[in-house]
Amino acid sequence: FIDLDHAATTPLDPAVRAAMLEWLDDTGYGNPASDHALGRRARAAVEAARAEVAALIGASSEEIIWTSGATEANNLAIKGALEFRGAERAHLITSRIEHKSVVDTCRYLETRGVRVSWLDPDPGGRIDTARVIAALRPETVLVSLMWVNNETGTINPVAELAPLLRERGVLLHVDAVQAAGKLAIDLAALPIDLLSLSAHKFYGPKGIGALFVRKRPRARLAPQLHGGGHEQGMRSGTLATHQIVGMGVAARLAAARRAGDAERLAALCARLERQLTSLPGVLRNGDAAHAAPHILNLSFAGIDGESLRARLPMLAVSSGSACSSATREPSYVLRALGRDDRLAGASLRFSPGRATRETDIDAAAQQVRAAVGLLRELAPGDA
Ligand code: PLP
Repeated sequence: FIDLDHAATTPLDPAVRAAMLEWLDDTGYGNPASDHALGRRARAAVEAARAEVAALIGASSEEIIWTSGATEANNLAIKGALEFRGAERAHLITSRIEHKSVVDTCRYLETRGVRVSWLDPDPGGRIDTARVIAALRPETVLVSLMWVNNETGTINPVAELAPLLRERGVLLHVDAVQAAGKLAIDLAALPIDLLSLSAHKFYGPKGIGALFVRKRPRARLAPQLHGGGHEQGMRSGTLATHQIVGMGVAARLAAARRAGDAERLAALCARLERQLTSLPGVLRNGDAAHAAPHILNLSFAGIDGESLRARLPMLAVSSGSACSSATREPSYVLRALGRDDRLAGASLRFSPGRATRETDIDAAAQQVRAAVGLLRELAPGDA
């Protein structure tokens, strides 16, 4: 079995697992909010992990708010910012190709009276900075834009956009789930106000993530989970020490390995692309000049996507995003890039990981080439 679906999730790094286990046994179960030895011990571990996550993105510890993942971080950032400013008559800008956890949060806010501008990407899947600036209104509270698209791997020009929004007093939220551990992120230098992370995309555990909330100037949010006032009142709930420790170790490893990982992954994607695009009728989805190192998305003209996937039982790849593939509709992201339903449906997203070898890439390419060849033979001229 060959796993080329690391953009959906990654295996737990053995060092992460080992660090987590200590906090699941009879000395590690203390409540980090408790004011006694057991609690203080857990709290120290939580704070050490917070520093590691902050270091991965050039933030300071007090700017990291633990969440259950990036879905929650995105919800907290967007709903929290709009609610704090007073959602009525407010305006927000996002794009049509965000992750569902942003798209559906913005749709929900529309039902509460918020005006939303939905920006279209260019054919390569980038959101042009000038378009964002042109969509600003006096009542714009927030722009929410992903750093790297999870389906195409296309990198958005957030570094160019951030200072322009800061000058204009508009908050910028960035979903950086697919950027963390792949691209350099330095929030000390880049005026992004809110940024979402998820541990399981960089060899940490599922069910833990973080929202960066800038302190200076302070990004203010209305909490979405009320209770004991944890996490500076922004996210109540007893902290899951083992999950947090796992995210901390994963962040430390991601920072240490980023440059090397990125180089290897880019070489693996390039190798796969060479072997597959030598077939006729293979189109790259996404902007090759602005591509994250770990995602390659291709459409195969003239074949049915479902038949293609059915012929690749030994390959873990994704078609559309994992979360929405249950709907069996062609990817809304590829549709927004201008692909027709058929090409959008006949697409595969390949995302190698740390354990992927060149031989895996070659074997995967061979399987895909064979499947495409067979399907075209069965239905010639079906393009
Ligand atoms: N944003 C992006 C870009 C993603 O790829 C994902 C992953 O599914 C998420 C958000 C959601 O993250 P989580 O699984 O932590 O809720």
